[in-house]
Amino acid sequence: MQDKTDHKYKLMEQMMKKLMTQNKQLMKAQETRSGPPGPPRPPRPPRPPRPPRVRKELGDKTADGKTYCKCGSCNKIVIHKDDDCFELEKNAHKRPSYWWSNKA
Ligand SMILES: [Zn+2]
Repeated sequence: MQDKTDHKYKLMEQMMKKLMTQNKQLMKAQETRSGPPGPPRPPRPPRPPRPPRVRKELGDKTADGKTYCKCGSCNKIVIHKDDDCFELEKNAHKRPSYWWSNKA
């Protein structure tokens, strides 16, 4: 029994060694393939900054035909009526959970 496990272990070791040498050969092949170092690569250009959020313009239309106008309450270009503005206390109950006041 002991011999068998020993044999297995040796086989494993051999496999590992084979793999290791294969790996080394691969590494060498890659090194030689790239050849002498050429001109240094230009550094990657920095990522362009994210485009700013699309600003709504007065008079723009939404997909469902509503027109953007400036809200007198929150001063944003929105489609809600001044009277429906979430900034108004009377509309507090309409505020969605994600809403928070834009006023400092
Ligand atoms: Zn508003």
